[in-house]
Amino acid sequence: MLKLNGEIDALKGVGPALKIKLNNRGVNTIEDILFLLPNRYEDRTILYDIQNAPINEHVLITGKIIESKILFYGRRSLFVKIQDDSATLNLRFFYFSRAQLQQFKKNTHIICFGLLKSNGKKSEMFHPEYRFIESSNAFKLDDKLTPIYPSIDGIQTGRLRNLVGQAIEIMRKSEPNEYLPENILKEIKMPSLREALINLHQPPANLKHADISHAIKHYKERLSFEELLANYISLRRLRLLAANTAADSLQLGKDKVNQFVRTLKFELTASQKQVCNEIVADLNKSQPMMRMLQGDVGSGKTVVAAIACLKTIMNKKQAAIMAPTELLTEQHMESFSAWFVKLDIKIVKLTGGQKKSTRDNNLRQIKQGEANLVIGTHALFQEGVIFKDLALIVIDEQHRFGVNQRVALREKGSQFKKQPHQLIMTATPIPRTLAMAAYADLDSSIIDELPVGRKAVETLVIPNDKRPSVIERVKNACTKGQQAYWVCPLIDESESIKADAATDRYEYLKKIIKPLKIGLVHGRQKQAEKEKTMRLFKEAKIDLLVATTVIEVGVNIPNASLMIIENAERMGLTQLHQLRGRVGRGNQQSHCILLYKKPLGSLAYDRLSILRETNDGFIIAQKDLELRGPGELLGTKQTGLPQYRIADLLRDAHLLPKVQKIAEIMMQDFPNKTNKIIMRWANDNQEYGKV
Ligand code: ADP
Ligand code: MG
Repeated sequence: MLKLNGEIDALKGVGPALKIKLNNRGVNTIEDILFLLPNRYEDRTILYDIQNAPINEHVLITGKIIESKILFYGRRSLFVKIQDDSATLNLRFFYFSRAQLQQFKKNTHIICFGLLKSNGKKSEMFHPEYRFIESSNAFKLDDKLTPIYPSIDGIQTGRLRNLVGQAIEIMRKSEPNEYLPENILKEIKMPSLREALINLHQPPANLKHADISHAIKHYKERLSFEELLANYISLRRLRLLAANTAADSLQLGKDKVNQFVRTLKFELTASQKQVCNEIVADLNKSQPMMRMLQGDVGSGKTVVAAIACLKTIMNKKQAAIMAPTELLTEQHMESFSAWFVKLDIKIVKLTGGQKKSTRDNNLRQIKQGEANLVIGTHALFQEGVIFKDLALIVIDEQHRFGVNQRVALREKGSQFKKQPHQLIMTATPIPRTLAMAAYADLDSSIIDELPVGRKAVETLVIPNDKRPSVIERVKNACTKGQQAYWVCPLIDESESIKADAATDRYEYLKKIIKPLKIGLVHGRQKQAEKEKTMRLFKEAKIDLLVATTVIEVGVNIPNASLMIIENAERMGLTQLHQLRGRVGRGNQQSHCILLYKKPLGSLAYDRLSILRETNDGFIIAQKDLELRGPGELLGTKQTGLPQYRIADLLRDAHLLPKVQKIAEIMMQDFPNKTNKIIMRWANDNQEYGKV
């Protein structure tokens, strides 16, 4: 009989390739897969007439194909018209294969499921799921809501549903590893792990779709609680550990640092100076620094990091900087090389996209201590990277890394007798209460002013249908020597669909914006291609850069002064603020145009208005939180708060006092279980490193 702690490939349908994909996502045992939760549920228990189906909901519809053809106007698409007794419905596919085209034959019956749209006259569905059937009633309706799993590494939701289904069957006959003792569950009034998992994956039959989120809330909280607990305990332990660990006291190099500051083309702001003093004081100590540096976009955190690195290097030790994207590592390479040009400092880059020979060479230099400064993505802290004498780790834009990655990183440090100092930088301010949970282990420094001479970015909120005038404006600006970004986000879509959308927009703008030079970057490109485009943009050989949100963090091109963001209504304020922060970095007046799709609800309008009214990231973050009522769909992903697998700091904030209390009890009374909880949740989430 299969057991929950058996290897995942004991399940039917898991071959070697799938096993690797699942292992990469931290799914090693059968039990592990139960922790991949559905992100929503679909209702295929009801069949609707086309005429009476509710608009803007996911609905199941069946009908007969009466027409199918390719449309060439606008964006090329496959158009299929179906009919039932009540009305007709148009299906549209923008991504389709030749084989698909042949299948949609006239008079064939089809059953499809998707989001129903209507413009008053005609009903439409884009990219529905579909199946061909013998006749209009040759199918069986589901009796339960269907869980929809986020697709991971190309594993389809149906496949995951099947695997989870098998795992649930095994669990029905056995017990999962419950690490929260019974009396604690009772105290916090939470269900057992078993009950929670069953209800989340297989909600009871006859539960109505409208009631689902309410019905499963409690079960989800059970898992969130455990995850928050695991993270909180990890962080507390790290703090305790740090207090008892030695670090190199970096006392030399004061003059060199002062000299360096004098060579800069600008004067440090008072805030930057203050923060540098705090950091230098920490580096002097023989316990590891654990400091979080908060500062709004454009406040000049990078140069502060450079000063910390220089100080470290002047003590004959190595420093490392980890950034969330390859784009950003490349940019840091450039800035640091320029800053340190007169100094005898060897800088080495380490990213996932490098050739093996380059990588091997870099690894050797890091190991032998030839490299003084290493700049990289999370690839920096993977196995096989061995430092000779690492004394400082800087993490840039920390919110893009999961909490678990931070923990993993610290553990990397523990291979040394001494711990490296750590400086963690973020542009995202976070309210005190949440900071307690998310950064229980860190001291904090704040840069609270922007460099002098910066002009606040002027922000305009404009509906989509005025796009032609916006294009006109881009043309004018670029003709006058300015540079612009055009961001095409598409939330909740895969990286490849985002890339396609950006490519389409690029092709379109290229046609009408001649003779200006236009470039494209997205997450699907090869690293070299991304770098080349960014370099051309930096050298002003490209006028307009079309991009996905890959440019969201850190990108610094001071001559760019115009930012266009499409579908702004679908993005979080903090994310928009980050994107907007790509302009306004030089001395000319910059503008940001937020394009939205009509109609705009009043809440969405209020949110966008905040951006128009202020450029202060702290205020924006605060308002963003205030305006997020329950049921807000955007989640923490776009607030810049740390990412968890299941928990959501905002949604679950009310659990935090309990988490803190139970953490103390668990650490005291159940050290064994505590270790296991941490292990369960401490899987690397590497999703963000790739873009
Ligand atoms: P962020 O805090 O968003 O990471 P950066 O470190 O990228 O900001 O800094 C943005 C720009 O401001 C860079 O071009 C940087 O060289 C410049 N800068 C940093 N500090 C100052 C300063 N004190 N005066 C003028 N420009 C500065
Ligand atoms: Mg930065």
